[in-house]
Amino acid sequence: MHFAIIGQGLAGSSLAIEADKNGHDITCFDLSNENTASKRAIGIINPLVLKNRTIFDKSEIFLSNCLSYYNWIEKTFQKPLLSRNSIREVLFNPSEVSNWTSLSQESNLEKYIGSIETTNKSLSALGLGCIKNSFRLDVKNYLQVIRTWLSENHHLQEEDVKNIFVSKNEVIVNSQKFDGLILAEGLIATWTQKIFRPLQFSPTKGEGLVIETTNTNIDFPVHRNTFLLKEHENRYTVGATFNRKDLQTGPSKAGKDSLIKELSYWFHDDFKIVDHWCGLRPTMKDRKICFGWHKEFPNVGFLNGLGSRGALTSPYYSSLLWAQHRS
Ligand SMILES: Cc1cc2nc3c(=O)[nH]c(=O)nc-3n(C[C@H](O)[C@H](O)[C@H](O)COP(=O)(O)OP(=O)(O)OC[C@H]3O[C@@H](n4cnc5c(N)ncnc54)[C@H](O)[C@@H]3O)c2cc1C
Repeated sequence: MHFAIIGQGLAGSSLAIEADKNGHDITCFDLSNENTASKRAIGIINPLVLKNRTIFDKSEIFLSNCLSYYNWIEKTFQKPLLSRNSIREVLFNPSEVSNWTSLSQESNLEKYIGSIETTNKSLSALGLGCIKNSFRLDVKNYLQVIRTWLSENHHLQEEDVKNIFVSKNEVIVNSQKFDGLILAEGLIATWTQKIFRPLQFSPTKGEGLVIETTNTNIDFPVHRNTFLLKEHENRYTVGATFNRKDLQTGPSKAGKDSLIKELSYWFHDDFKIVDHWCGLRPTMKDRKICFGWHKEFPNVGFLNGLGSRGALTSPYYSSLLWAQHRS
C-alpha cells in the first residue's frame, strides 16, 4: 500500500521506517521548519526522572525498543548517531552522595543508578553519579539520515499539507491519491484534530543556550536541573528549561537568566553565550502519548503527544501503531 505520512519529526521518521519494514511505499510531506520540537530536541535518552530519582514509566520496554531501533539505523545507514557516554548527575554534598549510593543498591534502581565518579576540574561537585543505560541521540543527523533515505528511496515533499480528503477506499493529500495516511504533525496537529478528535495539548516550552568556553573538557552529558552537553570543540549546549506558562515562540530573558543561574551553581569556567533558542514540546494535559487507527477508515492513523521524551518513546509507539494496523 502507498501511505502518505504528514510530518518528519521524531514520530514521522520512525513511522516511515516501520512502514517500509511492513512493505509499504511512503510519501512523506514535511515543511522545512527549523522551529519544530524535533529540530530543538537535545537528544537525551534517559530512563530516570532525575528530579525525584525514580524510574520513568515503562523505561525498560522503551529503552530496549529504542536501542534496537537506533542500532539498526546506525548499522543500515552506516552513521554513528547514538552517544553511549552516560549522563553524570552532579552530587553536591555528603548527603547527596550517600543517597545516591543507597539508591544504587535498591533492586529496581541498580540497573540505572551507577557508581559515583570523581569530579571534573570545571565542576563544583563532590562526585558525579553515573546514570547507567542513558544515551544521547544526535537528533539533527538522525532526521537528516531519514530525510535523505526518504528522498532517495521513497518520496519526500517539502510542502504544507493544505487539503486532505479521506474515504473508505482512498486518501487524497494535496491532490495526490494514496491508500492510507499517517499523521505525525506534532503541535500543529491540524489534520489529526479534524480527522480524529481535538487533542488536549499542554505544551512545555524549552529554552537553551550554546556557550563557548576555552578551558573545559567534559565529553559526557552533565546534569543538575539542566544539562551541559558537548557539541564540538569548545561549544556546549546548556538546557533545556521547562515552562508551561510562557508559550511565546521566542526565547526570553527569564529563560536565559534561569539557565545561567542553574549552570553557575556547579560549572565554574568562564563562558560566552553564542546562541539562545527555544522550542515547544508537544505534551498532552494528561502527559499520555496518543496514537491509533481510525475506526471508520482503517488505513488512517496518527501518533502525537511525545512530550519531552520523543527520542526514547517514538520507536516503541511507531512499531506498536504498525502492529495494530489491520487493512
Ligand atoms: C527544547 C526541547 C528539548 C527537547 N529535548 C529532548 C530530549 O533531550 N530527549 C527527548 O527524547 N525529547 C526531547 N524533546 C522532545 C522531542 O523533541 C519531542 O517529543 C518530539 O520531537 C516530537 O516529535 P513529533 O514528530 O511528534 O513532532 P515535531 O517535531 O513537531 O514534528 C512534526 C512535523 O510535522 C510537520 N508538519 C505538521 N503539520 C504539517 C503540514 N500540514 N504539512 C507539512 N508538514 C507538517 C512539522 O513541520 C514537523 O516537521 C525536546 C523538545 C524540546 C522543544
